Amino acid sequence: MSTQRRSYFDWNATAPLRAEARAAMQAALAATGNASSVHAEGRAARALIEQARTDVAALVGAEAKTVIFTAGGTEANALALTPQIEAGADKALRGGLLVSAVEHPSVLAGGRFERVEIVPVDPQGRVDLVQLQKKVEEIARPLVSVMLANNETGVIQPIREVAAIVHAAGGLLHVDAVQGAGRVACDMAALGADLMTMSAHKIGGPQGAGALVRRADLHFPAPLIRGGGQERNYRAGTENVAAIAGFGAAAKAALAGREVAAARMAALRDRIEAGLRAESPDVVIFGAGAERLPNTISFSKPGMKAETAIIAFDLNGIAVSSGSACSSGKVQPSHVLAAMGVDPALAGGAIRLSLGWDTTEDDAGNVLNAWRKVASALSKGRGIAA
Ligand code: PLP
Repeated sequence: MSTQRRSYFDWNATAPLRAEARAAMQAALAATGNASSVHAEGRAARALIEQARTDVAALVGAEAKTVIFTAGGTEANALALTPQIEAGADKALRGGLLVSAVEHPSVLAGGRFERVEIVPVDPQGRVDLVQLQKKVEEIARPLVSVMLANNETGVIQPIREVAAIVHAAGGLLHVDAVQGAGRVACDMAALGADLMTMSAHKIGGPQGAGALVRRADLHFPAPLIRGGGQERNYRAGTENVAAIAGFGAAAKAALAGREVAAARMAALRDRIEAGLRAESPDVVIFGAGAERLPNTISFSKPGMKAETAIIAFDLNGIAVSSGSACSSGKVQPSHVLAAMGVDPALAGGAIRLSLGWDTTEDDAGNVLNAWRKVASALSKGRGIAA
């Protein structure tokens, strides 16, 4: 096994905690106070939450009061996907839920809808706008959920076009921006999103914190979690002040550093992709023909098995994940690659490399060195070892 320092290429699974988030969390943990209490300690906790609300809202160009803090992206998606969304005086239920075929499982699960209608994607993983148009016309007052960027491939969806189609049909658009926020421009109004999901741990905040941001006139009459009146009655339960403070600090740092980080990541991503292909011309990079996040590479090679490749990378000091869902440590076939029409055998070898704001040139060199070993073992038909 190599003695080089480990290189982390799994930022889409979770990012390291930013120093700013750690400091904000430590300060919040050192204080006592329930944000609902009226005394000075309670007001201090409330102030931390409201500062975080302002900073999280700024990342998506929204008003602070429209942010509902949750225990993560999964819960924010579950809260968003309900037939009961009121817009001003309009209180009628949403007629059905339409989601793209490449959504995260927490969206595919359909929230509080009984049925989920799927909109297909093209071979690059972009939502099929012709099919979307057809399906929104079939459902009265649809709620549509399309992600900003895919967690497996990094493919960015044409959200503005989707929003125009959905709104023309009298629908509402929820955008899961968990992977896009902090990496690409993510202004809710500019994108045309009515609801947007964020997760703290993908932008350098803690795991277990997230937010649903709503258009200011949208109201959820039936909260997912009932109890006290926290979060303006949208989400009951004593707020996790430290996690929310960490989320806010991470959002502020992500916004301030976004453009520089994106340019750096894109340059390293391009170098890595060129290196993968130089070593193995038969490498296939999924979604390469679409606009993608600057940090994500999903690739495969004929004959490669994701499980063995992950272990070989790991033994060479590189943390990668499979391009497929791997929620319980067991690689499952990827519904994303299947929806893109990728051959199942090729999809079974898919590896995801995801970069972050402090991925270095050395890390890029390390992953390419490891790839040289993995690919040469494969071409010699030896299976893959470290
Ligand atoms: N949506 C997308 C696109 C994701 O990638 C993830 C997490 O991987 C989630 C939602 C869920 O977020 P959380 O881990 O905060 O529950």
